[in-house]
Amino acid sequence: MHDGVAAYVLGVLDEEELEEFERHLETCEKCQAELVELAELPEQLDELKHISSASGDDPPMSMSR
Ligand SMILES: [Zn+2]
Repeated sequence: MHDGVAAYVLGVLDEEELEEFERHLETCEKCQAELVELAELPEQLDELKHISSASGDDPPMSMSR
């Protein structure tokens, strides 16, 4: 059940799985730690996107001119 963390973060678990996983999560430090790590990922990706989009108006593929 330890590999439910990613699915949980992505929100792809169905109701039953979700309940089961949340119950497991309360007792599993391993999954709690993993959840924190995974929960930080979208933010980091968002920051990267923000940085790259702020660094210029050029489209990434400006090969043709
Ligand atoms: Zn676990």
